[in-house]
Amino acid sequence: MTPHPLYPHLLSPLDLGHTTLKNRVLMGSMHTGLEDGRRHFPRMAAFYAERARGGVGLIVTGGFAPNIEGWAKPFAGTLATSAAARRHRLVTDAVHAEGGKIALQILHTGRYGYHPLCVAPSRIKSPISPFTPRELSARGIERQISAFVRCAALAREAGYDGVEVMGSEGYLINQFLVSHTNQRDDAWGGSPANRMRLALEIVERVRAAVGADFILIYRLSMLDLIPGGSSWDEVVTLAKAVAAAGATMINTGIGWHEARIPTIATSVPRGAFAWVTQKMRKELRAAGLTIPLITSNRINMPEVAEAILAEGCADMVSMARPLLADPEFVNKAAQHRRDEINTCIACNQACLDHAFVSKIASCLVNPRAGHETELVWRPLDPARHTRKRIAVVGAGPAGLAAATTLAERGHEVHLFEAAAQVGGQFNMARRVPGKEEFAETLRYYTRRIGVTGVQLHLSKRVDVATLVAGRFDEVVLATGVLPRDPKIPGSDLPNVLSYIDVLLHARPVGPRVAIVGAGGIGFDVAEFLVTAPGASPTMNLHEWLAEWGVADPATARGGVVAARPAPPARQVTLLQRKVGKLGKGLGKTTGWIHRASLQMKQVRMIGGVNYQRITAQGLWITTRISSGAQQSEPRLIECDTVVLCSGQEPLRVLHEPLRAAGLRTHLIGGAFEAGELDAKRAIDQGTRLAATL
Ligand code: FAD
Ligand code: NAP
Ligand code: SF4
Repeated sequence: MTPHPLYPHLLSPLDLGHTTLKNRVLMGSMHTGLEDGRRHFPRMAAFYAERARGGVGLIVTGGFAPNIEGWAKPFAGTLATSAAARRHRLVTDAVHAEGGKIALQILHTGRYGYHPLCVAPSRIKSPISPFTPRELSARGIERQISAFVRCAALAREAGYDGVEVMGSEGYLINQFLVSHTNQRDDAWGGSPANRMRLALEIVERVRAAVGADFILIYRLSMLDLIPGGSSWDEVVTLAKAVAAAGATMINTGIGWHEARIPTIATSVPRGAFAWVTQKMRKELRAAGLTIPLITSNRINMPEVAEAILAEGCADMVSMARPLLADPEFVNKAAQHRRDEINTCIACNQACLDHAFVSKIASCLVNPRAGHETELVWRPLDPARHTRKRIAVVGAGPAGLAAATTLAERGHEVHLFEAAAQVGGQFNMARRVPGKEEFAETLRYYTRRIGVTGVQLHLSKRVDVATLVAGRFDEVVLATGVLPRDPKIPGSDLPNVLSYIDVLLHARPVGPRVAIVGAGGIGFDVAEFLVTAPGASPTMNLHEWLAEWGVADPATARGGVVAARPAPPARQVTLLQRKVGKLGKGLGKTTGWIHRASLQMKQVRMIGGVNYQRITAQGLWITTRISSGAQQSEPRLIECDTVVLCSGQEPLRVLHEPLRAAGLRTHLIGGAFEAGELDAKRAIDQGTRLAATL
């Protein structure tokens, strides 16, 4: 076979002996919520079939528990009976019908189980679950091993091509490996050999049960990122033993869930942990072991994956969220359509954040993800539909999603944008250090506008007269928002700026800053102001690793050392009127990262504030005294610049006049409702409206 000219490594087959994968892309396991409940199986089948059709080499399902003790939460997806295995046929048949391959992940959460029946090597509660686990007896351990083996055998019965044994991320097997969570003094604890016994018994016995012609991936925690994690020697010894015990491939796990270092958020540099897999690969190759290694974390574009493989970091790359964002990722890369890839921006807003509140996972940039059976649009049928002339006003995320979906369906679409470029507020988001990925969404939509034939009118602020004269059948108003005026006396002074002045217009900001409002934008503006221009650690791996205290695991157990953040570029104070912790409303899985990041930059955070006035000297405030209504004496937050980030109001001045003129008008995104608006809602609303017009 001739190597692909752009991605010769990524798109080359991988020979596993008994079977061959068509390329080096593994769709990594991701909890979607579709695993939890038999009614979701048709949806799950459609979800994975779409990814198989998109060309991925091997899919790994979200985790299924091998028994009740291993549940992630009550009634989580479990594969423990033949009846359950029969239900999985729907999924495996759908994937095979598309020419794909699929493995089932066996996930035993141990002390991370969010239920009272959870078990662990020792009775030590995790910091991220309210439940204290029951310590397993020796017989209890045997029962867990048997459950893993039964689950693997049932996966084979259900038609899967293999299983992945989840041994990382701080789940049960990982809990046995480190003395931090395993304080046993029997055959399953104490020495490193005893601590790794569970992992090896599971791999050996699963292999014996499923036979040689079945893929067995072991997900190995190569970097625990917790104090007292495994030493590098222990990790390497385990990898060698896992290979000898019968694993087909070893996948990379980075960081326990309780680790306080981000591992997949958007501020993590691309491919930030491929060096860990590379280090392991060198060890195994030096020992004569050729077992394929899979690397993972923040690999979201084909050229990133190709470079990682070409550098010999791994034999395969795992991408999970990027295949939520674009199920056609692999086919687009293969067909030289890289610019058409809808890139995962690693925001976690619709995937991981959903999983944490028991909602079905979807994707901010692709609202069809997880909704393949329900959010469907087809090209117009000339025999049944009229091609409409539609105006979309505003090319922010809502307008872009609506316009391109409408044009893809076959309508004549005119997209009007007042600014000189598309993107709306994403043009500010992408300037925030650590949010550089947001530019990819604009690149994607710019290309999609061309592909779908949207007629784009930039630098064109339209009014009612233009829209009426344009004789449009429908008008979609996606005009977004205006910043809220907090009406603080003195806010017209020259030392007061809005977030738009700072992020979009690059207006000069002094060395001491007070930020009014601590929502998502207040936090982003603080991040922008404490970072020196051009010094975003996300763009420099070495700086990022130092900033968060990630070290070579050969020199520091678990790969953690003290963080060494760069000094802040400015002295920033972030304020809100609400009492309590700032940033409470930020993303479930990312809020802690924003808070930790600003704390490292010594940002002062003050809640319970009443804004009095702004003067040339700074911002005068009172603060609430304890929990009562009483206010402190006024005090001055001395600063050179005050930046207003006090929320947003909808901009929909065109709406009523257009309706009065008899035009069919629809409001979406911020123009519809600014409260709690985010790009997830904007894109979802734009797409769903476009599917119906
Ligand atoms: P907008 O993005 O506001 O777009 C409206 C567009 O309409 C603008 O381009 C405007 O120029 C145009 N327009 C207005 N009137 C007219 C007219 N008469 N004629 C022609 N054009 C017109 N959201 C998230 O989900 N996650 C994040 O991490 C995130 N980070 C953010 C960071 C920052 C710094 C900012 C400012 C916002 C962030 N957001 C984030 C919010 C997100 O960007 C918005 O929710 C989203 O952009 C709203 O989309 P929209 O299309 O409704 O409106
Ligand atoms: P926001 O999250 O609603 O925050 C507005 C802030 O302004 C709050 O701190 C609020 O707190 C304060 N405020 C509200 N009214 C005020 C007034 N009259 N005077 C003074 N302060 C006032 O909105 P945002 O920060 O503007 O963000 C806009 C949208 O973008 C949000 O919905 C958000 O979801 C999205 N976004 C998301 C992210 C992300 O990382 N996911 C990042 C950026 C933006 P008090 O009322 O307590 O003072
Ligand atoms: Fe990626 Fe965000 Fe979509 Fe999740 S929601 S898959 S992180 S773009």
